[in-house]
Amino acid sequence: MYVVKNLIVGCGLSGIVMANRIANELDQEVLIIDSKDHIGGTCFDYKDVNGITVHKYGPHIFRTNSERIWHLLSKYTDWYPFMHRVLGIIDGIEVPIPFNLNSLYKVFPPQKAKELEIKLIKEFGFNKKIPILELRKTEDRDLNFLAEYIYNKVFLGYTLKQWGFTPEQLDPSVTGSVPVYISKDDRYFQEKYQGIPSEGYTKMFEKMLDHPKIKVLLNTDYSKAKDTINYERLFYTGAIEEFFNYKFGKLPYRSLDLQFRTYDTNRFQNAAVVNYPENYDFTRITEYKYFLNEKSEKTVLSFEYPQDFEEGKNDRIYPILNKENQAIYDRYLEEAKKLPNVYFLGRLGAYRYYDMNRTIAGALELFDSIKK
Ligand code: UDP
Repeated sequence: MYVVKNLIVGCGLSGIVMANRIANELDQEVLIIDSKDHIGGTCFDYKDVNGITVHKYGPHIFRTNSERIWHLLSKYTDWYPFMHRVLGIIDGIEVPIPFNLNSLYKVFPPQKAKELEIKLIKEFGFNKKIPILELRKTEDRDLNFLAEYIYNKVFLGYTLKQWGFTPEQLDPSVTGSVPVYISKDDRYFQEKYQGIPSEGYTKMFEKMLDHPKIKVLLNTDYSKAKDTINYERLFYTGAIEEFFNYKFGKLPYRSLDLQFRTYDTNRFQNAAVVNYPENYDFTRITEYKYFLNEKSEKTVLSFEYPQDFEEGKNDRIYPILNKENQAIYDRYLEEAKKLPNVYFLGRLGAYRYYDMNRTIAGALELFDSIKK
Protein backbone atom coordinates (compact mmCIF):
# COMPACT_ATOMS: atom_id res chain seq x y z
CA MET A 1 0.00 0.00 0.00
CA TYR A 2 1.29 3.43 -1.04
CA VAL A 3 0.59 6.10 1.59
CA VAL A 4 0.69 9.73 0.48
CA LYS A 5 -0.81 13.00 1.64
CA ASN A 6 -1.73 14.32 -1.81
CA LEU A 7 -2.53 12.17 -4.81
CA ILE A 8 -2.86 13.87 -8.17
CA VAL A 9 -4.36 11.93 -11.05
CA GLY A 10 -3.11 13.25 -14.36
CA CYS A 11 0.29 14.76 -15.05
CA GLY A 12 -0.95 17.44 -17.44
CA LEU A 13 -0.80 21.18 -16.94
CA SER A 14 -3.30 21.46 -14.07
CA GLY A 15 -1.83 18.48 -12.19
CA ILE A 16 1.70 19.79 -12.60
CA VAL A 17 0.81 23.28 -11.35
CA MET A 18 -1.01 21.80 -8.36
CA ALA A 19 1.89 19.46 -7.51
CA ASN A 20 4.36 22.31 -7.85
CA ARG A 21 2.43 24.61 -5.52
CA ILE A 22 1.68 21.95 -2.88
CA ALA A 23 5.32 20.92 -2.70
CA ASN A 24 6.78 24.42 -2.79
CA GLU A 25 4.27 26.38 -0.69
CA LEU A 26 2.91 23.73 1.66
CA ASP A 27 6.00 21.54 1.77
CA GLN A 28 3.79 18.46 1.51
CA GLU A 29 4.31 15.19 -0.30
CA VAL A 30 2.66 14.66 -3.67
CA LEU A 31 2.29 11.56 -5.77
CA ILE A 32 1.27 12.35 -9.35
CA ILE A 33 0.24 9.52 -11.63
CA ASP A 34 -0.56 9.35 -15.32
CA SER A 35 -1.67 6.54 -17.58
CA LYS A 36 0.50 7.81 -20.43
CA ASP A 37 4.23 7.26 -20.80
CA HIS A 38 5.04 10.97 -20.71
CA ILE A 39 4.36 14.03 -18.57
CA GLY A 40 2.66 17.21 -19.80
CA GLY A 41 -0.69 15.85 -20.99
CA THR A 42 -1.75 17.49 -24.24
CA CYS A 43 0.97 20.17 -23.83
CA PHE A 44 3.71 17.54 -24.26
CA ASP A 45 6.41 18.39 -26.80
CA TYR A 46 9.67 16.76 -27.96
CA LYS A 47 12.54 17.40 -30.35
CA ASP A 48 12.31 15.26 -33.49
CA VAL A 49 15.20 13.81 -35.53
CA ASN A 50 15.71 17.10 -37.34
CA GLY A 51 15.98 19.09 -34.12
CA ILE A 52 12.53 20.63 -34.51
CA THR A 53 10.35 20.88 -31.41
CA VAL A 54 7.03 19.20 -32.11
CA HIS A 55 3.83 19.56 -30.08
CA LYS A 56 2.52 16.01 -30.01
CA TYR A 57 -1.12 17.04 -29.52
CA GLY A 58 -1.18 20.09 -31.77
CA PRO A 59 -0.02 23.72 -31.49
CA HIS A 60 0.24 25.31 -28.04
CA ILE A 61 1.03 29.00 -27.76
CA PHE A 62 1.19 30.35 -24.24
CA ARG A 63 -0.35 33.70 -23.38
CA THR A 64 -1.63 35.36 -20.23
CA ASN A 65 -2.45 38.73 -18.73
CA SER A 66 -1.74 37.43 -15.25
CA GLU A 67 1.50 38.59 -13.63
CA ARG A 68 1.25 35.77 -11.14
CA ILE A 69 1.01 33.06 -13.80
CA TRP A 70 3.72 34.55 -16.01
CA HIS A 71 6.13 34.94 -13.10
CA LEU A 72 5.40 31.47 -11.78
CA LEU A 73 6.21 29.78 -15.10
CA SER A 74 9.17 32.08 -15.68
CA LYS A 75 10.90 30.54 -12.66
CA TYR A 76 11.15 27.35 -14.69
CA THR A 77 11.74 28.57 -18.22
CA ASP A 78 12.96 31.38 -20.44
CA TRP A 79 10.64 32.39 -23.23
CA TYR A 80 11.00 32.77 -26.95
CA PRO A 81 8.90 35.90 -27.58
CA PHE A 82 6.65 34.36 -30.20
CA MET A 83 3.57 36.31 -31.23
CA HIS A 84 1.06 34.09 -32.95
CA ARG A 85 -0.28 35.10 -36.35
CA VAL A 86 -2.70 32.82 -38.15
CA LEU A 87 -3.64 32.85 -41.81
CA GLY A 88 -6.80 31.37 -43.24
CA ILE A 89 -7.20 30.32 -46.85
CA ILE A 90 -10.34 32.11 -48.04
CA ASP A 91 -11.20 31.82 -51.73
CA GLY A 92 -7.62 30.65 -52.20
CA ILE A 93 -6.13 33.81 -50.66
CA GLU A 94 -4.11 34.00 -47.43
CA VAL A 95 -6.13 36.13 -45.05
CA PRO A 96 -5.22 37.15 -41.46
CA ILE A 97 -7.36 35.38 -38.84
CA PRO A 98 -9.11 36.58 -36.66
CA PHE A 99 -10.77 38.43 -39.50
CA ASN A 100 -9.77 42.09 -39.07
CA LEU A 101 -9.45 45.29 -41.10
CA ASN A 102 -6.41 43.93 -42.95
CA SER A 103 -8.42 40.84 -43.91
CA LEU A 104 -11.14 43.09 -45.30
CA TYR A 105 -8.68 44.61 -47.79
CA LYS A 106 -7.37 41.17 -48.76
CA VAL A 107 -10.72 39.80 -49.89
CA PHE A 108 -12.60 42.85 -51.24
CA PRO A 109 -11.72 45.52 -53.81
CA PRO A 110 -10.30 48.65 -52.06
CA GLN A 111 -13.46 50.77 -52.56
CA LYS A 112 -15.73 48.10 -51.11
CA ALA A 113 -13.33 47.38 -48.24
CA LYS A 114 -13.19 51.10 -47.39
CA GLU A 115 -17.00 51.38 -47.26
CA LEU A 116 -17.24 48.37 -44.99
CA GLU A 117 -14.40 49.60 -42.78
CA ILE A 118 -16.14 52.96 -42.26
CA LYS A 119 -19.44 51.26 -41.47
CA LEU A 120 -17.84 48.80 -39.04
CA ILE A 121 -16.07 51.55 -37.14
CA LYS A 122 -19.23 53.69 -37.08
CA GLU A 123 -21.43 50.89 -35.80
CA PHE A 124 -19.08 49.15 -33.33
CA GLY A 125 -16.11 51.48 -32.79
CA PHE A 126 -12.42 51.04 -33.56
CA ASN A 127 -10.43 48.38 -31.70
CA LYS A 128 -13.57 46.43 -30.79
CA LYS A 129 -13.94 42.65 -30.93
CA ILE A 130 -17.26 41.38 -32.20
CA PRO A 131 -18.16 37.67 -32.02
CA ILE A 132 -19.41 36.47 -35.37
CA LEU A 133 -22.77 35.45 -33.93
CA GLU A 134 -23.21 39.07 -32.74
CA LEU A 135 -22.10 40.55 -36.05
CA ARG A 136 -24.71 38.45 -37.81
CA LYS A 137 -27.45 40.25 -35.87
CA THR A 138 -26.64 43.60 -37.45
CA GLU A 139 -29.46 45.12 -39.49
CA ASP A 140 -27.35 47.24 -41.79
CA ARG A 141 -27.50 45.65 -45.24
CA ASP A 142 -23.81 46.04 -46.07
CA LEU A 143 -22.63 44.86 -42.68
CA ASN A 144 -25.05 41.98 -42.92
CA PHE A 145 -23.49 41.03 -46.23
CA LEU A 146 -20.07 41.15 -44.56
CA ALA A 147 -21.24 39.11 -41.57
CA GLU A 148 -22.65 36.41 -43.86
CA TYR A 149 -19.44 36.41 -45.88
CA ILE A 150 -17.25 35.92 -42.79
CA TYR A 151 -19.66 33.43 -41.25
CA ASN A 152 -19.70 31.26 -44.36
CA LYS A 153 -16.06 31.59 -45.36
CA VAL A 154 -14.30 31.56 -41.98
CA PHE A 155 -16.55 29.92 -39.41
CA LEU A 156 -19.10 27.55 -40.84
CA GLY A 157 -16.87 25.04 -42.61
CA TYR A 158 -14.16 25.13 -39.95
CA THR A 159 -16.63 24.67 -37.10
CA LEU A 160 -18.46 21.84 -38.84
CA LYS A 161 -15.15 20.06 -39.36
CA GLN A 162 -13.88 20.82 -35.87
CA TRP A 163 -17.00 20.05 -33.85
CA GLY A 164 -19.49 18.34 -36.13
CA PHE A 165 -21.89 21.21 -35.26
CA THR A 166 -22.68 24.68 -36.59
CA PRO A 167 -21.60 27.73 -34.52
CA GLU A 168 -25.23 28.20 -33.34
CA GLN A 169 -25.38 24.68 -31.94
CA LEU A 170 -22.42 25.32 -29.65
CA ASP A 171 -21.94 27.59 -26.68
CA PRO A 172 -21.32 31.12 -28.08
CA SER A 173 -17.96 31.21 -26.28
CA VAL A 174 -16.56 28.66 -28.76
CA THR A 175 -16.57 30.92 -31.82
CA GLY A 176 -16.55 33.99 -29.54
CA SER A 177 -12.89 33.27 -28.73
CA VAL A 178 -11.96 34.20 -32.31
CA PRO A 179 -14.02 37.40 -32.79
CA VAL A 180 -13.97 39.72 -35.77
CA TYR A 181 -11.47 42.39 -34.75
CA ILE A 182 -12.05 45.98 -35.86
CA SER A 183 -8.37 46.79 -35.79
CA LYS A 184 -5.20 46.33 -37.81
CA ASP A 185 -3.78 44.07 -35.11
CA ASP A 186 -3.11 40.78 -36.91
CA ARG A 187 -2.14 38.82 -33.84
CA TYR A 188 -4.23 35.83 -32.81
CA PHE A 189 -3.89 36.87 -29.17
CA GLN A 190 -3.60 40.28 -27.52
CA GLU A 191 -2.44 39.23 -24.05
CA LYS A 192 0.40 41.14 -22.42
CA TYR A 193 2.61 38.07 -22.08
CA GLN A 194 2.97 35.66 -25.00
CA GLY A 195 5.61 33.09 -25.83
CA ILE A 196 6.90 29.57 -26.14
CA PRO A 197 9.15 28.04 -23.44
CA SER A 198 12.57 28.34 -25.03
CA GLU A 199 13.46 24.70 -24.38
CA GLY A 200 9.91 23.48 -24.88
CA TYR A 201 6.97 22.77 -22.57
CA THR A 202 8.22 19.35 -21.45
CA LYS A 203 11.52 20.77 -20.14
CA MET A 204 9.61 23.45 -18.23
CA PHE A 205 7.34 20.79 -16.71
CA GLU A 206 10.31 18.61 -15.72
CA LYS A 207 11.69 21.56 -13.78
CA MET A 208 8.32 22.28 -12.15
CA LEU A 209 8.17 18.67 -10.96
CA ASP A 210 11.79 18.55 -9.83
CA HIS A 211 11.24 18.69 -6.07
CA PRO A 212 12.13 16.16 -3.37
CA LYS A 213 8.50 15.99 -2.23
CA ILE A 214 7.09 15.22 -5.71
CA LYS A 215 7.03 11.70 -7.08
CA VAL A 216 5.81 11.00 -10.61
CA LEU A 217 4.53 7.59 -11.72
CA LEU A 218 3.87 7.16 -15.44
CA ASN A 219 2.10 4.27 -17.19
CA THR A 220 -0.15 4.11 -14.15
CA ASP A 221 -3.87 3.86 -14.61
CA TYR A 222 -5.88 5.29 -11.71
CA SER A 223 -8.66 2.72 -12.00
CA LYS A 224 -6.12 -0.07 -11.54
CA ALA A 225 -3.88 1.68 -9.00
CA LYS A 226 -6.48 3.27 -6.73
CA ASP A 227 -6.83 0.35 -4.33
CA THR A 228 -3.10 0.38 -3.71
CA ILE A 229 -2.81 4.08 -2.84
CA ASN A 230 -3.89 5.58 0.44
CA TYR A 231 -4.27 9.36 0.28
CA GLU A 232 -5.65 12.22 2.34
CA ARG A 233 -6.53 14.42 -0.60
CA LEU A 234 -7.20 13.57 -4.22
CA PHE A 235 -6.88 15.98 -7.14
CA TYR A 236 -8.47 14.40 -10.17
CA THR A 237 -7.73 15.92 -13.59
CA GLY A 238 -9.19 13.08 -15.65
CA ALA A 239 -12.71 12.86 -17.01
CA ILE A 240 -15.20 13.36 -14.20
CA GLU A 241 -17.72 10.95 -15.72
CA GLU A 242 -15.15 8.16 -15.73
CA PHE A 243 -14.44 8.77 -12.04
CA PHE A 244 -18.15 8.25 -11.32
CA ASN A 245 -18.40 5.20 -13.57
CA TYR A 246 -20.62 7.03 -16.07
CA LYS A 247 -23.57 6.91 -13.66
CA PHE A 248 -25.24 9.90 -15.33
CA GLY A 249 -24.10 8.94 -18.81
CA LYS A 250 -21.20 9.83 -21.07
CA LEU A 251 -19.92 13.33 -21.72
CA PRO A 252 -19.00 13.81 -25.37
CA TYR A 253 -15.66 15.12 -26.59
CA ARG A 254 -13.96 15.82 -29.86
CA SER A 255 -10.58 14.36 -30.52
CA LEU A 256 -7.94 14.86 -33.19
CA ASP A 257 -6.17 12.65 -35.63
CA LEU A 258 -2.92 14.58 -36.04
CA GLN A 259 -0.98 13.48 -39.07
CA PHE A 260 2.66 14.53 -38.98
CA ARG A 261 4.62 14.90 -42.18
CA THR A 262 8.22 15.95 -42.76
CA TYR A 263 8.94 17.75 -46.01
CA ASP A 264 12.32 18.23 -47.61
CA THR A 265 11.99 21.98 -47.78
CA ASN A 266 13.06 24.86 -45.62
CA ARG A 267 9.62 26.51 -45.34
CA PHE A 268 6.21 25.18 -46.27
CA GLN A 269 3.83 28.01 -45.38
CA ASN A 270 3.79 31.69 -44.42
CA ALA A 271 2.75 31.33 -40.79
CA ALA A 272 3.05 28.76 -38.00
CA VAL A 273 -0.63 27.94 -38.40
CA VAL A 274 -2.72 28.12 -41.55
CA ASN A 275 -6.45 27.41 -41.29
CA TYR A 276 -8.45 25.78 -44.07
CA PRO A 277 -12.11 26.57 -43.37
CA GLU A 278 -13.22 25.80 -46.92
CA ASN A 279 -10.87 23.22 -48.41
CA TYR A 280 -9.90 19.68 -47.43
CA ASP A 281 -11.00 17.59 -44.46
CA PHE A 282 -8.35 18.90 -42.10
CA THR A 283 -8.90 22.16 -40.22
CA ARG A 284 -5.36 23.49 -40.12
CA ILE A 285 -1.70 22.86 -40.86
CA THR A 286 0.92 23.73 -38.26
CA GLU A 287 4.58 24.22 -39.19
CA TYR A 288 6.50 23.67 -35.98
CA LYS A 289 9.86 25.29 -36.70
CA TYR A 290 8.20 28.73 -36.47
CA PHE A 291 7.53 28.51 -32.74
CA LEU A 292 11.16 28.58 -31.61
CA ASN A 293 12.61 29.86 -34.88
CA GLU A 294 14.42 26.56 -35.33
CA LYS A 295 16.70 26.07 -38.33
CA SER A 296 16.66 22.92 -40.43
CA GLU A 297 16.75 21.97 -44.10
CA LYS A 298 13.56 20.03 -43.42
CA THR A 299 10.26 21.08 -41.96
CA VAL A 300 7.73 19.17 -39.90
CA LEU A 301 4.01 19.78 -40.21
CA SER A 302 0.85 18.48 -38.60
CA PHE A 303 -2.47 18.17 -40.40
CA GLU A 304 -5.43 18.17 -38.00
CA TYR A 305 -8.35 15.88 -38.70
CA PRO A 306 -10.98 16.32 -35.96
CA GLN A 307 -13.02 13.28 -35.02
CA ASP A 308 -15.30 12.11 -32.21
CA PHE A 309 -13.68 10.83 -29.06
CA GLU A 310 -14.00 7.06 -28.72
CA GLU A 311 -12.85 5.17 -25.66
CA GLY A 312 -9.69 3.17 -26.39
CA LYS A 313 -9.24 4.72 -29.84
CA ASN A 314 -8.14 8.31 -29.19
CA ASP A 315 -7.91 10.95 -26.44
CA ARG A 316 -10.48 13.31 -25.02
CA ILE A 317 -9.26 16.68 -26.29
CA TYR A 318 -12.16 19.11 -26.61
CA PRO A 319 -15.25 19.09 -24.34
CA ILE A 320 -18.28 19.83 -26.55
CA LEU A 321 -19.94 22.80 -24.93
CA ASN A 322 -23.71 23.00 -25.26
CA LYS A 323 -26.64 23.15 -22.85
CA GLU A 324 -27.35 19.43 -22.91
CA ASN A 325 -23.78 18.43 -22.04
CA GLN A 326 -23.50 21.14 -19.41
CA ALA A 327 -26.60 19.69 -17.70
CA ILE A 328 -24.96 16.25 -17.55
CA TYR A 329 -21.75 17.75 -16.19
CA ASP A 330 -23.69 19.66 -13.52
CA ARG A 331 -25.11 16.38 -12.20
CA TYR A 332 -21.59 15.00 -11.85
CA LEU A 333 -20.49 18.18 -10.15
CA GLU A 334 -23.29 17.83 -7.56
CA GLU A 335 -22.04 14.33 -6.88
CA ALA A 336 -18.46 15.59 -6.62
CA LYS A 337 -19.44 18.12 -3.96
CA LYS A 338 -20.47 15.27 -1.68
CA LEU A 339 -16.92 13.94 -1.58
CA PRO A 340 -14.77 15.73 0.96
CA ASN A 341 -11.12 16.01 -0.07
CA VAL A 342 -11.67 15.08 -3.71
CA TYR A 343 -11.19 17.93 -6.17
CA PHE A 344 -11.77 18.02 -9.91
CA LEU A 345 -9.76 20.32 -12.12
CA GLY A 346 -8.33 20.80 -15.60
CA ARG A 347 -10.06 20.65 -18.97
CA LEU A 348 -11.56 17.23 -18.29
CA GLY A 349 -12.28 17.62 -14.58
CA ALA A 350 -14.06 20.93 -15.21
CA TYR A 351 -15.45 19.97 -18.66
CA ARG A 352 -14.38 23.38 -19.93
CA TYR A 353 -12.70 24.45 -23.15
CA TYR A 354 -9.77 25.86 -21.16
CA ASP A 355 -6.68 27.29 -22.78
CA MET A 356 -3.38 26.96 -20.90
CA ASN A 357 -3.82 30.24 -19.03
CA ARG A 358 -7.27 29.33 -17.77
CA THR A 359 -6.12 25.83 -16.87
CA ILE A 360 -3.38 27.28 -14.69
CA ALA A 361 -5.70 29.92 -13.24
CA GLY A 362 -8.18 27.17 -12.30
CA ALA A 363 -5.46 25.14 -10.57
CA LEU A 364 -4.16 28.20 -8.67
CA GLU A 365 -7.66 29.19 -7.54
CA LEU A 366 -8.21 25.72 -6.20
CA PHE A 367 -4.81 25.73 -4.53
CA ASP A 368 -5.55 29.09 -2.87
CA SER A 369 -8.83 27.74 -1.55
CA ILE A 370 -7.34 24.61 -0.01
CA LYS A 371 -4.19 26.09 1.43
CA LYS A 372 -6.14 28.09 4.05
N1 UDP B 1 -12.87 29.06 -35.72
C1 UDP B 1 -13.35 29.06 -37.02
N2 UDP B 1 -12.50 29.40 -38.04
C2 UDP B 1 -11.22 29.75 -37.84
C3 UDP B 1 -10.72 29.75 -36.52
C4 UDP B 1 -11.57 29.39 -35.48
O1 UDP B 1 -14.49 28.72 -37.24
O2 UDP B 1 -10.51 30.05 -38.81
C5 UDP B 1 -13.79 28.67 -34.62
C6 UDP B 1 -13.91 27.14 -34.53
O3 UDP B 1 -15.20 26.81 -34.09
C7 UDP B 1 -12.85 26.82 -33.50
C8 UDP B 1 -13.03 27.97 -32.51
O4 UDP B 1 -13.30 29.10 -33.35
O5 UDP B 1 -13.07 25.57 -32.91
C9 UDP B 1 -11.84 28.24 -31.61
O6 UDP B 1 -10.68 28.39 -32.40
P1 UDP B 1 -9.21 28.20 -31.81
O7 UDP B 1 -8.24 28.55 -32.87
O8 UDP B 1 -9.11 28.94 -30.51
O9 UDP B 1 -9.17 26.62 -31.54
P2 UDP B 1 -8.10 25.68 -30.77
O10 UDP B 1 -6.73 26.22 -31.04
O11 UDP B 1 -8.49 25.72 -29.32
O12 UDP B 1 -8.36 24.35 -31.41
